[in-house]
Amino acid sequence: MADYDFDLFVIGAGSGGVRAARLAALSGAKVAVAEEYRVGGTCVIRGCVPKKFMVYASEVSSQLKTAKGYGWTVGEASFDWKSFLHDKDVEIARLSGIYVTNLQKAGAHLLHGKARLLDTHTVEVEGKDAGRYTARKILIATGGRPVKPDFPGADLGITSDEAFHLPTLPKRVLVVGGGYIAVEFAGIFNGLGVETTLLYRGANILRGFDDDVRSHLADELEKRGIKVVLGCSHQSIEQTEAGLVSTLSNDLTFETDVVMFATGREPYVEGLGLDTVGVELNERGAIAVNGQSRTSVESIWAVGDVTDRINLTPVAIREGAAFAQTEFYNNPTAFDHDLVASAVFSQPPVGVVGLSEAEARHAFGKVDIYRSIFRPMKVTFYGGQDRCLIKLVVKQDDQKVVGVHVVGPDSPEIIQMAAIAVKMGVTKAQWDSTCAVHPTLAEELVTMREKYVPAEVGGAG
Ligand code: NDP
Repeated sequence: MADYDFDLFVIGAGSGGVRAARLAALSGAKVAVAEEYRVGGTCVIRGCVPKKFMVYASEVSSQLKTAKGYGWTVGEASFDWKSFLHDKDVEIARLSGIYVTNLQKAGAHLLHGKARLLDTHTVEVEGKDAGRYTARKILIATGGRPVKPDFPGADLGITSDEAFHLPTLPKRVLVVGGGYIAVEFAGIFNGLGVETTLLYRGANILRGFDDDVRSHLADELEKRGIKVVLGCSHQSIEQTEAGLVSTLSNDLTFETDVVMFATGREPYVEGLGLDTVGVELNERGAIAVNGQSRTSVESIWAVGDVTDRINLTPVAIREGAAFAQTEFYNNPTAFDHDLVASAVFSQPPVGVVGLSEAEARHAFGKVDIYRSIFRPMKVTFYGGQDRCLIKLVVKQDDQKVVGVHVVGPDSPEIIQMAAIAVKMGVTKAQWDSTCAVHPTLAEELVTMREKYVPAEVGGAG
């Protein structure tokens, strides 16, 4: 058997790569991890974690309003962007440090530099730890990166990467896109007092989500002061003295201080030398893998966003763990990508598991819908107008709950629990046999008895 420097060489120290590297190293394997930027990947450095801190910071403005509604006298409140950014960066550095420590504790070797495949068992690293390294197995976990659309002046816009480090908080922002990142950042900027417009090319935001969730969220965003412009896209952006001027497809112009593109992310495959070694990409430009994350090359695997399956941190972690179990613990494991719950940290947030109503009708024909839209008691107390949406999609023939959709405070926390039941194949009768916890928002989930018949279905559901 050939003698290699390492049993496993991982390219990319993000969520998926680090989990695989640690588990493999803990099995006694000799493991190296190469990272060209900072350890922790998108999630820790410029994604989920700093985003959530920004959501927390921005939610304070509505909490101050609630405070007044409950009899508090709140003095002049102000927000210090620079001090927040500093504290956020300190915390991110601490978390990144924990990742480094955990890798070291497991016995993995961390190499700083950009890695490139030279052949099916050799990686070249350029940078601080430059060198050529051989490995019996190679795992690519390089994640994704934001893409900007291509039109004149698009370079004047930023992406979420730069939004985490804006030198000053703008007065006005135009967020472009209608996906997770667009609605989350629109909420962040709006909550921090920035005049925020969300520009989306389609009929409604969050394409792919349940239609009730989409329209409900769009209404709630507008109620909170975000201007949502639909069915409209960019033609150009120009820098003027007054700010950035966007010319839009409806021939209107729009002036703002910052344009932020949240127009999707692409698998980060550039410069990896995939062509050289014959690692195949799929039609979306992601690394093609089988159910056990193996690429077209026998000795090379890939996990996480670079494979563009479900682009979520916990999924990358599970894919990395399944790879390590299979290859280093003699325990063949494939991660089940079905019924992965997710949350959108918009304001209000969204929690979803399973199928939308449209997907379920398409898959099963007949479905029962249970839906409730209401003002939670916390806001009715002071006359607030925020509304929650709770919706269950139930397959008619066997009464299994196949979709749960929640828009409202704490929905990300609620959906984590609902996901367990849905993953276990819960039926509506079992669901209803669960006694409510009162008074909560989530109790509405187990008290919906009457079927909702959407007008367009006309009772055929
Ligand atoms: P998404 O794919 O979710 O959304 C991209 C948006 O940009 C869509 O609304 C899309 O429109 C629009 N768009 C794409 N190209 C253009 C263009 N040329 N001009 C105008 N609009 C365009 O990507 P995100 O960047 O929001 O997020 C990437 C992924 O990261 C998500 O899919 C998710 O998996 C993950 N993520 C998860 C989070 C979470 O779990 N809370 C948070 C953030 C990210 P259209 O719908 O018409 O295609």
